[in-house]
Amino acid sequence: MEEVIDIRNVSVYYGSDSIPALKEVNLKVFRGDFLGIIGPNGGGKSTLLKVLLGLIKPDSGDVRVFGEEPAKARKYIGYVPQKSAYQPDFPVSVREVVLMGRLGKHMLLKNYSQKDLEAVDNALQKVKMLDFKNRQISELSGGQQQRVFIARALVREPEILLLDEPVSGIDEMMQKEFYEILTDLKSKVTIIMVSHDLTAISNYVDKIACLNQTLFFHGSKEIPESDLKQAYCCPVELIAHGIPHRVLKEH
Ligand code: ADP
Ligand code: MG
Repeated sequence: MEEVIDIRNVSVYYGSDSIPALKEVNLKVFRGDFLGIIGPNGGGKSTLLKVLLGLIKPDSGDVRVFGEEPAKARKYIGYVPQKSAYQPDFPVSVREVVLMGRLGKHMLLKNYSQKDLEAVDNALQKVKMLDFKNRQISELSGGQQQRVFIARALVREPEILLLDEPVSGIDEMMQKEFYEILTDLKSKVTIIMVSHDLTAISNYVDKIACLNQTLFFHGSKEIPESDLKQAYCCPVELIAHGIPHRVLKEH
């Protein structure tokens, strides 16, 4: 299978911190993977995605995306950043939000072609939001907004989709719909989804890694109890509550 991401011994320190945000992380991702990365708040999940985008340069180690340096490979990646508490309320339509993903910020929604508009419709169709394309983004529910942000990431037809906590703050019904959309997408794009909520993602992803500074990953959906213990620094019974048993090794 084709390797799309190769992370080797990557460590990241912010500023003059003596404790690394990421410590000697190793990870290989293959085409078609649907990988969930779980871990506690502050575990380095968002940092890892930023490293893959080339937004943060590791202090040591090496990262390759399609064999290239991350910043050069950014064109292959669609990214849905972690939602900030502050949501701008400026008047912009769903269609314009997705078009921005197509054109980049510099184009300021000018000089777009018929082909760009078709790509926008196509992306909105994929997340089942085409009927909403003329609505204001601020009028939509959290779950609907998140689908539009995925459309914005998809509109450039990326090879890899990075999702940072995409379902936080979204009610359970909408989460289910959201995951079904991802399940439809996964045959076409390699997906890495980050979450602090193990129960939410374990039903849908094909592989799970645990991240808390160090990454625990065995290339499968099984997480040994010892990994969970180390990653979460608390008894597994607490985390395992409500988790489909097959995710965890026999214990
Ligand atoms: P997660 O996404 O798993 O919650 P983050 O990657 O956001 O974790 O953060 C990992 C660690 O790095 C945390 O201790 C956080 O405080 C620190 N950190 C994140 N971003 C910055 C930053 N821009 N400057 C300094 N420290 C940061
Ligand atoms: Mg985060």
